[in-house]
Amino acid sequence: MLAAALAALLAVPATAAASQASVTAGRASVTAGRASVTAGRASVTAGRAASASCPWVTSRAPVAQRVAELMSQMSLADEISMVEGHGTSNPYVFYTPAIPSLCIPAVGLEDGPSGVADGLTGVTQLPAGVALAATWDPGLAQQYGQVIGAEESGKGASANLGPTVNIDRDPRWGRSFEALSEDPALNSALDVPEIGGVQSQDVESQVKHLAVYNQETYRNTPADNVIVDSRTEHEIYLPSFYAAVKAGDASVMCSYASINGNFACNDSDLETTILRDEWGFPGFVMSDYGALHSTQGALQGTDQEQPFNTFYGTPLQTAVQNGTIPKSVLNTMVQRVLTEMFRFGLFSRPRTGSTSATVTTPGHVAVATSVAEAGTTLLKNAGGVLPLSPSGGSIAVVGPAADAAPTYAGGGSAYVIPSGTVSPLAGIKAAAGSGTSVAYAQGLPADASLPAIPSSDLSPAYAPTPFGGSYTGTLTAPETGRYVLAITNPCGCYTSTYLSLDGNKIIDDPSTPPVHTYSVAVDLTAGQQYTLSISGASSQLLWGTPSALAPGISAAVSAARAAATAVVVVSDDTQSEATDRLSLNLPSAQDELISAVAAANPHTVVVIDAGAPVAMPWLSGVAGVVDAWYPGQTSGTSLASVLFGQTDPGGHLPVTFPASLSQVPAATTAQFPGNGTDVLYSEGVDVGYRWYDARGITPLFPFGFGLSYTQFAFGGLSVSHPVVNGTQDVRVSALVTNTGHRAGSEVAQLYLADPAASGEPPRQLAGFQRVSLAPGASARVSFVLTPQEMSWWSDTANGWTQTAGTYQVYVGDSSALAGLPLRGSFTMATTPGARQVTVSAPSAIRPGQAALVRVTLTAAGDATLHGVRLALQLPGGWTAVPTGPAVFGSVAPGQALAVAFLVTPPRYAPNASAVVHATATAGDWLREAGVSVTVSG
Ligand code: BGC
Repeated sequence: MLAAALAALLAVPATAAASQASVTAGRASVTAGRASVTAGRASVTAGRAASASCPWVTSRAPVAQRVAELMSQMSLADEISMVEGHGTSNPYVFYTPAIPSLCIPAVGLEDGPSGVADGLTGVTQLPAGVALAATWDPGLAQQYGQVIGAEESGKGASANLGPTVNIDRDPRWGRSFEALSEDPALNSALDVPEIGGVQSQDVESQVKHLAVYNQETYRNTPADNVIVDSRTEHEIYLPSFYAAVKAGDASVMCSYASINGNFACNDSDLETTILRDEWGFPGFVMSDYGALHSTQGALQGTDQEQPFNTFYGTPLQTAVQNGTIPKSVLNTMVQRVLTEMFRFGLFSRPRTGSTSATVTTPGHVAVATSVAEAGTTLLKNAGGVLPLSPSGGSIAVVGPAADAAPTYAGGGSAYVIPSGTVSPLAGIKAAAGSGTSVAYAQGLPADASLPAIPSSDLSPAYAPTPFGGSYTGTLTAPETGRYVLAITNPCGCYTSTYLSLDGNKIIDDPSTPPVHTYSVAVDLTAGQQYTLSISGASSQLLWGTPSALAPGISAAVSAARAAATAVVVVSDDTQSEATDRLSLNLPSAQDELISAVAAANPHTVVVIDAGAPVAMPWLSGVAGVVDAWYPGQTSGTSLASVLFGQTDPGGHLPVTFPASLSQVPAATTAQFPGNGTDVLYSEGVDVGYRWYDARGITPLFPFGFGLSYTQFAFGGLSVSHPVVNGTQDVRVSALVTNTGHRAGSEVAQLYLADPAASGEPPRQLAGFQRVSLAPGASARVSFVLTPQEMSWWSDTANGWTQTAGTYQVYVGDSSALAGLPLRGSFTMATTPGARQVTVSAPSAIRPGQAALVRVTLTAAGDATLHGVRLALQLPGGWTAVPTGPAVFGSVAPGQALAVAFLVTPPRYAPNASAVVHATATAGDWLREAGVSVTVSG
């Protein structure tokens, strides 16, 4: 009898109805900017206190059951309210209102990646994500996340919109500063503890932006249509999201990018096949600001639209009413949102914070300073110009960025208003001993104080341009030399205004917070006429002529000549959301200033406050270069600590610094920013240092590079296994010794080279460890190479696979071979190859009734596997009973495995879809797959 029932069940064909819905991504018109968020209302009001009519509030039942109880009481309108955007009048950038009759609390979601953003005050402006990445310190990432979580909570927000874990594909990307690095392993190693830190404060983390979102140009339009292969997606652009999801991140924001023809928020391959089925993500997906392009997104995997209700308001309600979109789809969306709300205690522990609260604390500011110090990266230190002596001597501090117009952070939605600032000059003055004299020469005017171009030199006279407006004039250069040109875009609308010179765009100013005036240096010839044109909103067209700039530069030169050391602080304040940089040059005439000062003082140190690589035409002429990234509000404190040697500059580059734009992986227009139709990711997996290594290109500074005030030696390499079978870990360890005379920190890095037949890049980061050592001290660093790190994604197999052969390991302190003194290897003699898991289930399952789910592991490879376990991961309240053995002692290479499980959803399971997720494991070797099923009936 049982056998007959099983046979009948096994005959049920498996489909993934919900996941395979057709994609009809809307190609909506270009979204012009964004509405400004009106601050005003105080904290989100929690729903009314728990009452007998809301048993789910105090119930001790499992979350899944409480969600089901609540959903059973919800009307269609209630459900729509949970998934639609509610406009921009709330103090939180995104929110869903309370439904008091059901005791559902309001939810405020707030940016962002480096602290509480969106114009709220009384918060800590942390260093940018890239500065955190430069620390290579997961412990600091955890503290960073904790600060963000604590401050979001204090502000009454329930979710933090961050971290930004997109890959820094190109140094021109305006949001490079906000993201972490160019490497998926480094991103993953830092985003996991950061998310853990945020969520330890009972605040949901929303990792962003899924996925392949790596430029601002054309964003959220069909022209940002990324053409990328599945291998590149899986190996480069998805791992940091995968790591976040597996670490329990509550939510994912889908991006502005369009991938192979589908907008990310309307991409069922990305949001359903990969995120839900392949990875088993149980949380909810929310659209970026206006990034949803059709109501079909409900079928494709976007659970919530923000901040408007263009597609999930009335259109979704109508679609559900007329059956075009099944009610089970809406239920699924609501279920996911509510599940995370219960998980984070939003029902039982109402948020008490308020947007008007002051949430920064000295402890939080101290974390900001520690991260900035640990991320500060020493790139050049000729003749030991650094550290400076705190007692005695004289220092000339130069540059508007040192004090008159410092840059602490990048622009856009990640911008955090600091609770107080310490400028580089203030920090240096405070740290300098009484015997040290500190002089300041601004050198250049701040951009915003440049004068207007007079009508005597410009015809017709410039007049401000409205949103969407334009101006064209002829500039007759009064003298020959380097000018600074600047425009101000006052609209606050995240929409580019371009300044072009003779038809070439030279400034792209998006009017994001905090900087509205952008500048550029250009060389003009006396008497020559140039066409200056503006397209977009502008309120000022400014300039600095060579003769107007000269006195400031001369004063800086004099100050530098009179001092033992010159510290020139420069910044790039144009790195922002909603724009990509048009070049890597520093704004204004900062390059001129550095060169002039360096010519006057051989002990010139350049400090760069920028969120991404900048060109350094003056590099050979200066003694020292310190990259402080965007250091956050205590910029001066952390900088002085490093300059005076109280802290070792232990940062290492999380991105490659190219010598010029001709070197970068996406050097052609077709690759970046695209040809107006597509953006070709034709460099494939050769992103960042992988590209430079594969092509034998020497960058200005390689990924992973960073100097210290002391020296380190590497030795004692040990590789645990000479031969492995593809399911085993390999342990690599090495001895790091501080061979210098000062305490300092080093980032030991492990790179792995797969056999050439795999087609992988020459070397890939596979582990790192930051160590701090006293002079003469040694530490053994150890790394575990898992089978996953020895795998690559096969488009043919549509899954991970491995290649037998020799694997080289390299240990050192940068990605360049010159920085990798330790070399070893091991052999993968046999491999499980492209074995994959598949899972099949009936498309519909009844609550409380068993259904048969079959999990298989295909045969492949030439390794005999030991201790293989097939298992299911199911939503809360579901049970699975294997109908036969699910653990296999020894599996021959040609042997496939299959196990049928009796899977039962709980009786209370709502009519919604659920992912039945399966894994096959052998040791640390893992394959996974899933299928969406609908609970109905
Ligand atoms: C950004 C997101 C941000 C959202 C809300 C969008 O423009 O891309 O990163 O979370 O706005 O501010």
